[in-house]
Amino acid sequence: MPQQSDEHLLSVFEKLNKLSFRRQQLMDRRNVLSMLIQFKRNNGQNEQEYSKETGELQQIDEDLKVLSDRKIELEKMQEGGSLLIDTTKSSSVIFVDSPPPFPAPQVILDVKQLPRHSSKTQCPFCRQYITTEVMTKAGSVTYLLCLISMVFCCVAGCCLIPFFVDSCKDVTHKCPKCRSNINTCKKF
Ligand SMILES: [Zn+2]
Repeated sequence: MPQQSDEHLLSVFEKLNKLSFRRQQLMDRRNVLSMLIQFKRNNGQNEQEYSKETGELQQIDEDLKVLSDRKIELEKMQEGGSLLIDTTKSSSVIFVDSPPPFPAPQVILDVKQLPRHSSKTQCPFCRQYITTEVMTKAGSVTYLLCLISMVFCCVAGCCLIPFFVDSCKDVTHKCPKCRSNINTCKKF
């Protein structure tokens, strides 16, 4: 599923690139045409004599408008929103953000706010943008739960269970590049 969306993003990105290129071509052509029209006008030609150029200029303006609409659409898609095109008015596009199945991966700059799973952040030691590696380690809560289960109901070593359950343990975020410990999320 993430691979598919990567490919999708890549194709959106390629389309955006092609679109910018096409836009540049049109802008160049537009500049040439305006100069030509200006030149003909200055030479005393009347409007009919350069109507072909004026017509092409208008066509280019329309094409440019379509392109910029398309560009907005693609940029929205790149941001992960899906869009609905209102067919009754072809020029108006309504964007509807689809609720993501999981929180969008965002770069968390405050390392103190890193969640208990691997996340994108900037390493405070090597200043690189990284996806943290997480390691779980028995923390005070783990020992506490172990103690409680020993006091109340220890049958067949169930006091050891907290040591095998990640959600009872502390989570340490590590930088995959410089191997520094970025932050530890204590259970309490
Ligand atoms: Zn680092």
